[in-house]
Amino acid sequence: MKRETTSYPKLIDAVEEKALADEQISRAEAEALLDTPDEHWLRLLAAADRVRIHFKGSHFDSCSLINARSGRCGEDCAFCAQSVRYNTDCETYPLRSDDDILDAARAAKAAGAARFCTVTSGGALSPQEFDRLLQSLEKVHAEVDIALDASLGFLDAKRAEKLRAAGVTRYNHNIETSPDYYAQIVTTHRFEQRVSTIRTVLNSGLSACCGGIIGMGEAPAQRLDFAFVLADLQVDCVPINILNPRPGTPLEHAPQLEPREILKTVAIFRLILPHATIKIAGGRERNLGDFQGMALRAGANGMIIGGYLTTAGRSVEDDLRMVREAGFAI
Ligand code: SF4
Repeated sequence: MKRETTSYPKLIDAVEEKALADEQISRAEAEALLDTPDEHWLRLLAAADRVRIHFKGSHFDSCSLINARSGRCGEDCAFCAQSVRYNTDCETYPLRSDDDILDAARAAKAAGAARFCTVTSGGALSPQEFDRLLQSLEKVHAEVDIALDASLGFLDAKRAEKLRAAGVTRYNHNIETSPDYYAQIVTTHRFEQRVSTIRTVLNSGLSACCGGIIGMGEAPAQRLDFAFVLADLQVDCVPINILNPRPGTPLEHAPQLEPREILKTVAIFRLILPHATIKIAGGRERNLGDFQGMALRAGANGMIIGGYLTTAGRSVEDDLRMVREAGFAI
């Protein structure tokens, strides 16, 4: 049954109160918020902003990436230019040298990033590549004063332990979308394999960074399923990418989400995940345009800065100015 427009202020206030009291909001409440009419949209964003302020204050989490091994991936993620299955213009190269990774970490630090994440394409690194990368990460840890993240595909407990010993504090592995939409996006591995890696990360004592991509053709209700899986897992950090369709991939012609739809999604994620760091990640420039700063007052408290894996971002100076102007401490 459709709700009366006039019932939304009450609903939004009740959900905000619940989130502030650290109670998990219900699936039915989140679903009702999806239909928030335009005249109450700002009220929803403001509620998410207050929940962010309550749990995260003005803390801002900025992360800069290096794509340390690009392309030649045997998986078939429909959004990804790095899959060998698609004819894309993605640059391919083997694992970067120690010096390349060190230089990138120094540049991230100099630009003002709080974290530096080393990312490699593919399901998992070979044992030789993993050991080589471990040495690079040890050097970064010894020489650059920056928090270290890694995103190296599927992970077992032994590798997690080695990464921790090398100085890595957070591991990223995205579940990408809802459990029941996953097979539309990836057929070469299962959703449960991704969840299993995140459980390994959490059990190892590493901080878990886990999010995904919106705008891949999923229904709004499936975004909620995605958010509630993250809430169940109790991940620490949730990067929300907004599809930036890559030529040559199956999602090349996916329709673009409206900024209002994206901001509403960010706000609802904050209400479902009050404790998490919520990061606006890839695709924000293309999809949010002039509304990027608004995402920082709609529940988000982090961003990936300095470009993404296969696409460029806007200038770090512009991003950090926007963060300061939104009232965050850097
Ligand atoms: S997202 Fe990762 S696993 Fe999937 S195709 Fe791209 S590089 Fe491979």
